[in-house]
Amino acid sequence: MSISFSNTVPYGHDTIHCFAVGPISTNCYAYVSGEACLVIDPGFDGKALASQLEHQNLTTIVATHGHGDHVGGVAELMRPSTAFLINEKDLELAQSPNAAGHRPGESLPPTPTGFLSEGNIVSVGTARFRIIETPGHTPGGVCLVGQGSAEGLCFTGDTLFAGSAGRTDLPGGNFDQLIQSLARLRKELTLDCVVLPGHGGATSMREELATNRFYQ
Ligand SMILES: [Zn+2]
Repeated sequence: MSISFSNTVPYGHDTIHCFAVGPISTNCYAYVSGEACLVIDPGFDGKALASQLEHQNLTTIVATHGHGDHVGGVAELMRPSTAFLINEKDLELAQSPNAAGHRPGESLPPTPTGFLSEGNIVSVGTARFRIIETPGHTPGGVCLVGQGSAEGLCFTGDTLFAGSAGRTDLPGGNFDQLIQSLARLRKELTLDCVVLPGHGGATSMREELATNRFYQ
């Protein structure tokens, strides 16, 4: 199992665990608030993630998009009471064994319990995450903008990375849409917003607006 337990950081009264999973080090985040835990992008190694999170009340799993390296661990992590949410526009990608990021032998994700779209709110404890649709890397990519106790952070999946942005050369990718989605993030997020991407380290909007070539 190629899971590495990267780090755990407090965020106010909440806690963010970050695990780097799979061959291309997808960031899987577990956001714990109160008695509840939201997992974002369990890309691979669901069994190892399940054992790391066995004492958590795993209420919801969100996939920021349908690539295999963001959904490959969902099946093994799911519990009977866990919701699994993704944008319907990426359902086909998520369920196709030939889509980008799927690893041979990795389980395909189960049927989602619900679909995410623009303006939806995903709640966990005292934290809420507003869904904004950010197509470009895939048709159904979403970012999760924190509110409540998660105010000031954003999970950006493969839309925005520290110093880069998601590739658009895979099936369903669209460069013009990606640029529009990045502009949307600039409008929606404050300069101090902590950006937690699907790969690589955390950053801030201030840093990205100053240095990311996609914002120059
Ligand atoms: Zn991706």
